[in-house]
Amino acid sequence: MTMAAPRVGFVSLGCPKALVDSERIITNLRSEGYQIAPDYQGADLVVVNTCGFIESAVNESLDAIGEALNENGKVIVTGCLGAKKEVILAQHPQVLEITGAHAYEDVMRAVHKHLPPSKDPFVNLVPAQGIKLTPKHYAYLKISEGCNHACTFCIIPSMRGKLQSRTIDEVLTEAYKLKQAGVKELLIISQDTSAYGVDTKYTERMWHEQTLKTKFYDLCKALSEFGIWVRLHYVYPYAHVDEIIPLMREGALLPYLDIPFQHASARILKLMKRPASSENNLERIKAWRKICPELTIRSTFIVGFPGETEAEFEELLEFLTEAQLDRVGCFKYSPVAGAKANLLPDAVSEEIKEARYHRFMALQAKISAARLQAKVGQRMRVLVDEVRDDLVVARSIADAPEIDGLVFIENAMHLKPGQWADVQINAADEYDLFAVLV
Ligand code: SF4
Repeated sequence: MTMAAPRVGFVSLGCPKALVDSERIITNLRSEGYQIAPDYQGADLVVVNTCGFIESAVNESLDAIGEALNENGKVIVTGCLGAKKEVILAQHPQVLEITGAHAYEDVMRAVHKHLPPSKDPFVNLVPAQGIKLTPKHYAYLKISEGCNHACTFCIIPSMRGKLQSRTIDEVLTEAYKLKQAGVKELLIISQDTSAYGVDTKYTERMWHEQTLKTKFYDLCKALSEFGIWVRLHYVYPYAHVDEIIPLMREGALLPYLDIPFQHASARILKLMKRPASSENNLERIKAWRKICPELTIRSTFIVGFPGETEAEFEELLEFLTEAQLDRVGCFKYSPVAGAKANLLPDAVSEEIKEARYHRFMALQAKISAARLQAKVGQRMRVLVDEVRDDLVVARSIADAPEIDGLVFIENAMHLKPGQWADVQINAADEYDLFAVLV
């Protein structure tokens, strides 16, 4: 007789890194015969993977825990907010267990305790590539955990610990399985992708009869031979990043870099203790674009950091004008409990932060729109994400899923998600492109 499999509901909040943690937990659950329930009512227990990065994320996580408790009642909390048990328990004392970020075994132990696995050995087999929460044609690939930096606005190193890189053979084996399973685009993530392998002293490993170092360049080079899209996130502008730009020019790696610059003033960057803060970022961007003119750069910035003067803010605006970045996000500085930056003098008032945010966004909107407008008339290859009603939604090499723009294709309803298509761009607005098939 086959027993009904125990069913776990899963709520995943936060950044792509948290999404990867959720995927690992779900893969473990499925490999032990648990079913993943699509709603609260169908679940015997709910796991909430939380984010605790900024205040709004903490509130969102607390609300999600409350909702799961109301709708289901049996809740295990994991993820970044798990590091602050007292905050969760103050509001939701009835949660069953709380574990921290990257604590897969603790989550599994908690699930076993409150919902034992089925004894039936004929459990569902997990596909070799694991369980993915993203559409099956793209996948996030996490290459390391933790971070060796100490940015003063961030508490990630205190929650996730020092950098711990996965060895290169392990990362490439996962990438290979994903490709074999039909994945067309790999999104490389970590807290600091350019630091990959430093903690392992660039340990050497054999992979497909080659000796490779656990190192940023070796990883990029090996992935560039996979023949699928490989997109790099969270790269810092160190000198050694220069080495991969030729791979981008050859089209082997996507000519796309997600670099969280956060500011342009040397004094503010120093106060922030940002990695590579002494590098001349503008010179570096210009040199990269000379080698690879089609390079897309996405970035994020913080305005209103403690002590930021009007002159320093204007320096940031000048940087934006000069750098001509393609995609930019901006945050008003918001103190995170436990972050060193909270102790810095000269906090910027909320009114000034708000005003600077709008000035920043207005300038960047013009830059981004002009860069998109310059693509009208171009032909390009895009990857189809979704076919909706009478519209095909795709992305170009310049667009990462969820954070960048889209390419809408007319009259192409025969296309399927995960297919590449060659299009001509007919129009652009502030964020997206509109195209026809060629
Ligand atoms: S690089 Fe800075 S912002 Fe990023 S995780 Fe490390 S400490 Fe936090």
